[in-house]
Amino acid sequence: MNKIKRIGVLTSGGDAPGMNAAIRAVTRAGINNSLEVFGIRRGYEGMIDGDIFQMNSETVSGVIQKGGTFLLTARSKRFREPEGRREAYEQLKRIGLDAVVVIGGDGSFTGANIMSMEYDISFIGIPGTIDNDLYGTDYTIGYDTALNTVVEAVDKIRDTASSHNRIFFVEVMGREAGFVAINSGIASGAEIIMIPEEKNQIEKARRFLAERARKNKSSIILVAEGLEEGSAMEIASMLTPEFPQFDIRVSILGHIQRGGSPSAKDRIIASRMGAAAVEALLDNQKSIMVGVVNDVIVQVPLNKTIKLHKAIDENLISLAEGICTFGPPKN
Ligand code: ATP
Repeated sequence: MNKIKRIGVLTSGGDAPGMNAAIRAVTRAGINNSLEVFGIRRGYEGMIDGDIFQMNSETVSGVIQKGGTFLLTARSKRFREPEGRREAYEQLKRIGLDAVVVIGGDGSFTGANIMSMEYDISFIGIPGTIDNDLYGTDYTIGYDTALNTVVEAVDKIRDTASSHNRIFFVEVMGREAGFVAINSGIASGAEIIMIPEEKNQIEKARRFLAERARKNKSSIILVAEGLEEGSAMEIASMLTPEFPQFDIRVSILGHIQRGGSPSAKDRIIASRMGAAAVEALLDNQKSIMVGVVNDVIVQVPLNKTIKLHKAIDENLISLAEGICTFGPPKN
């Protein structure tokens, strides 16, 4: 017998396009399965403040195509403390919520996992982050849209780069993971892709520029923001004096990567994951994340997705090098 009657849904951490589609799917699938569904505004902050309201099918009309999250999101310091989580629990009990669907990244899942060990609340995670850096799922909501945004921006930068014969260092998001950089780099034909998973990235750029010096052509060097060697600006400042013959520029794509109408792929993944989260709750599951692997919905224990690291596919790195202007580095 399923004991869940009332569920909450929230978005937490960084916003990502497609979060609205996931909220919509959770709400509609919940209601269509006789659950009462409540929206929790501003992530865990709103949970602590009791900023919670009942939703119906119409509440989520017209949101699927919108970027961001209409429930708003936040990073909550208070939720990191036991006292904050106790207050959050009291608010959930006041309304009679038995379960919460958390749409966010690994930080949000860590918080959910901790609270599920302290209190009798079922948490289901839906991966929502543009970084795609969560273990146990091939895709996270927002990643595909962010990739397309980066590719579109790099295409535009390339137009001006080639008109002026400039070298552009373009910085993209990815503090600890180079998924956005490697895939958008392949898709936009970047000459060099610098990712945090690989060592000696500056050497790679230096070698490339030395080769380039003989051809005098424009180039795009894609830089993930989490490089050990520094930001795109710092790397460009280090290399510029070594290559005075080049007109070197830097472009930091920044927050535009988070925004925009979600791609069809993100909307579909978000809808599938939202419905799967409700199914998991009806199945009395708790402390799991729903993900997608080989296009099939899977369930992964929250503690596993938090602890384990998702590695970048080595084949993608080889591919990027194998099809770039000078081929893989020769040792
Ligand atoms: P993104 O990948 O977009 O940054 P995220 O979910 O990883 O998303 P975080 O800011 O790391 O974003 O986490 C979101 C919220 O989860 C935090 O503001 C905090 O409220 C909660 N949280 C994170 N880590 C913990 C923790 N160790 N204990 C309790 N709560 C936590």
